[in-house]
Amino acid sequence: MSKDNKPHEEGNPSASAQRAETFKVQSCPECGSTRLMRDYECAEIVCMDCGFVVAAKIADRGPEWRAFDDEQRSKRTRVGAPLTYTIHDKGLSTTIDWHDRDVYGKSLSPGQKAQVYRLRKWQRRIRVSDATERNLAFALSEITKISNSLNLPKNILETASVIYRKAVKERLIRGRSIQGVTSAAIYLACRQCGLPRTLDEISSVNCEQKGSGS
Ligand SMILES: [Zn+2]
Repeated sequence: MSKDNKPHEEGNPSASAQRAETFKVQSCPECGSTRLMRDYECAEIVCMDCGFVVAAKIADRGPEWRAFDDEQRSKRTRVGAPLTYTIHDKGLSTTIDWHDRDVYGKSLSPGQKAQVYRLRKWQRRIRVSDATERNLAFALSEITKISNSLNLPKNILETASVIYRKAVKERLIRGRSIQGVTSAAIYLACRQCGLPRTLDEISSVNCEQKGSGS
């Protein structure tokens, strides 16, 4: 992650002061005026004197809220976890967390707890809507299990999930076992990322899990 992408710098007084400073130093290349205005709607920096557009398509890297300490920052952040191919819906759907607490951190009453428990159950059921998705979710969880027991790094897990998704798209799964294709996907991912793992290692872990699962 580069320094510019730091999401929480609004609360840091030195960072915001620095940003204001660089903004002030800039002057119009046409008339030399330093009265520049940020037009947030058009994402432009405009000279207030002659109307020259100094910069277009500027990115506002700061958050649109202000936070003054860590607690506020974590409460006000609105971004979720990053996209991942290891979850069938790429981790985009809502998950209700296991804390029985409300927005303010107070614990819920027994009635509310029961309601949240039911909501959680239905949310889990609704997330996986049809048979194809159910198979994908199962296969991806298998890939996760195998790569965890082989202690494979996260990028292999992501790559293997992408390979498996491609195989589904090309209709290569029909007529083959999910275990077989998941092993093959992990093996391919290891080859692609230059990690030396044999097919035997991967399939042995898969067979172990099959044995313990049934
Ligand atoms: Zn100007």
